[in-house]
Amino acid sequence: MHNAPAAPFTLTPVGYVESDYPDKFGIPRQPGLAPAAEASLVLVAPYNDPLSVRGLDAFSHIWVSFIFHQSPERWTPLVRPPRLGGNQKVGVFASRSTHRPNRLGLSLVKLAGIDTRQGVRLKLEGCDLVSGTPVVDIKPYLPWAEARPDASAGFAPEAPGLLQVSFRQQALETLAARADSATLQALIIQVLGQDPRPAYKQDDESERVYGVRLRDVDVKFCAFKNDEATTLNVVAIE
Ligand code: SAM
Repeated sequence: MHNAPAAPFTLTPVGYVESDYPDKFGIPRQPGLAPAAEASLVLVAPYNDPLSVRGLDAFSHIWVSFIFHQSPERWTPLVRPPRLGGNQKVGVFASRSTHRPNRLGLSLVKLAGIDTRQGVRLKLEGCDLVSGTPVVDIKPYLPWAEARPDASAGFAPEAPGLLQVSFRQQALETLAARADSATLQALIIQVLGQDPRPAYKQDDESERVYGVRLRDVDVKFCAFKNDEATTLNVVAIE
């Protein structure tokens, strides 16, 4: 017989994420979909002791447990995954929804390096977290125990399809003038390729201009349909 614990548990962030994503809008829905996305996980005292990450550099990937701090605390038993077009409902525990009890998130990300010169800073690639996300735990990924390529994956059986991305000349010129032009362009292509437009807008092919903030820029884009394929065209980088 198990009794429900009388008191809630308290979690304390061990660190915070600084990422290429200043806003939630546009962030791919799972890690690894935009490998060009760079981030740092900056540990805070007392967890920023270099001893606490000794040995971690031998692992290529880590699990990051975090709080969806920009989601409301309220949750409902049914959610509408964007993957199902935003119309069909599934149970919150059958989803990776950001609106969930305890607001706990879990992302598998590439560990690109560890800097212990001043505190501890983990360099991450491909994370799906907004800048400022509080992290509550870190664990090394064990492929022999945790990779299950033959697993069934319900309503999300494979990676989402990618849209074509094109750039107006003016946007290309803005990119070319930047020191990070190659990685920023790759990031824009990977992020827009996921089609960040809200599901209910995706049939609206009018010249509506959307904006996604990446690093320190606002990427303005619109959609056009050609031979049934939709392309997202970057019209300006501001
Ligand atoms: N991989 C994680 C998981 O399964 O727990 C996150 C999946 S969730 C569907 C990914 C989305 O969370 C992103 O597209 C982004 O919009 C949103 N997001 C990222 N960081 C967040 C935060 N700190 N608070 C609320 N939403 C966040």
